[in-house]
Amino acid sequence: MEVELCGVTKAFDGTAALHPLNLKIASGTFTTLLGPSGCGKTTLLRLIAGLEGPDSGTIRIGGKLVCDPKNGVNMPPQQRELGMVFQDFALWPHMTVYENIAFGPRARGRRKEVAEQVAGAIEAVRLQGFEKRYPHQLSGGQQQRVAFARSIASRAKLILFDEPLSALDALLRDEMREELVQMVRKLGVTAIYVTHDQTEAMSMSDTIIVMKQGEVLQRGKPEEIYHAPTHPFVAQFVGRSNWVEPNIRMVRPENVRWIARSSDRIFQGVVTRVSYFGDRYEVAVRLADETVWTAYHTERMSLGETVQLVVDEQHIHTLGEMYRSISEVSMEKEQGKLREVINR
Ligand code: ATP
Repeated sequence: MEVELCGVTKAFDGTAALHPLNLKIASGTFTTLLGPSGCGKTTLLRLIAGLEGPDSGTIRIGGKLVCDPKNGVNMPPQQRELGMVFQDFALWPHMTVYENIAFGPRARGRRKEVAEQVAGAIEAVRLQGFEKRYPHQLSGGQQQRVAFARSIASRAKLILFDEPLSALDALLRDEMREELVQMVRKLGVTAIYVTHDQTEAMSMSDTIIVMKQGEVLQRGKPEEIYHAPTHPFVAQFVGRSNWVEPNIRMVRPENVRWIARSSDRIFQGVVTRVSYFGDRYEVAVRLADETVWTAYHTERMSLGETVQLVVDEQHIHTLGEMYRSISEVSMEKEQGKLREVINR
């Protein structure tokens, strides 16, 4: 089910939570909305779900107009044929696993098919044998699977996930991450997934949409977002960035070496932090201009040690021309303001 937003805006008490937004999410893809707390991810998801109404703009799901405030269109959530898997699980505590999953299909009057649909959904999330348990008798991961099964049983072709794994411990989160992607792919549904966790976004998505302060800064495949960020915020938020030229040219830590060849760029610095990650040491190095870089090493280095960081020019990424022109414009504005102050 394709999702299309045109000129969608949303403000709370006069403060914009979403600036005019145009977005097309292709059918059958796994798309992640990634961004820091308060950037508008959940608001966007709630608008698609119909839990919130936009101030302006239109929303189409599967080609059907579900929201158009100008013309009084606002289809309620239950008619949008989508599933929701949110972080607080929202399972009915007084209902068994079976009843929780059967709730949607029953409410839609598909009495005859209910048993078949519930059995299929339980099998898809591998919860056979848990049908008679109550939510409090399940682990966090199992509760998440029930929430997912509920969407499957409702035959939802679009499933919205709002930080569904954030309440789980690190190990379970890793397991569930893989399971969830596999299940989504097997079912061929469209998934829109909200998270502020870049690892989750990188490992699960076909497309990542990076947001900040109610705006989309960049959208692309995980590899594009990581290797070719177009905005300094994206470079900093997704992975670690070492700035060769502030906000304009950067290199990722895995491309920083310790031994030089003839054509390499060399940067001198002092080791300020060493963190052990099992498979490598992460080393923070402060350069002469006070920029702090991150590099990886196989051996522990000493704090205060003077080192040279080596970069092949081809691994230095220049941020998008569009951003550069915007930054140049704002720089010109700043310089203009400065001149005004000096001339006063
Ligand atoms: P988080 O990761 O913390 O959940 P988010 O990116 O999902 O953050 P939103 O919940 O969409 O962010 O919030 C975006 C902005 O809108 C925030 O500044 C938030 O305070 C504001 N906001 C969201 N819902 C409401 C509301 N019901 N009333 C007033 N302000 C709201």
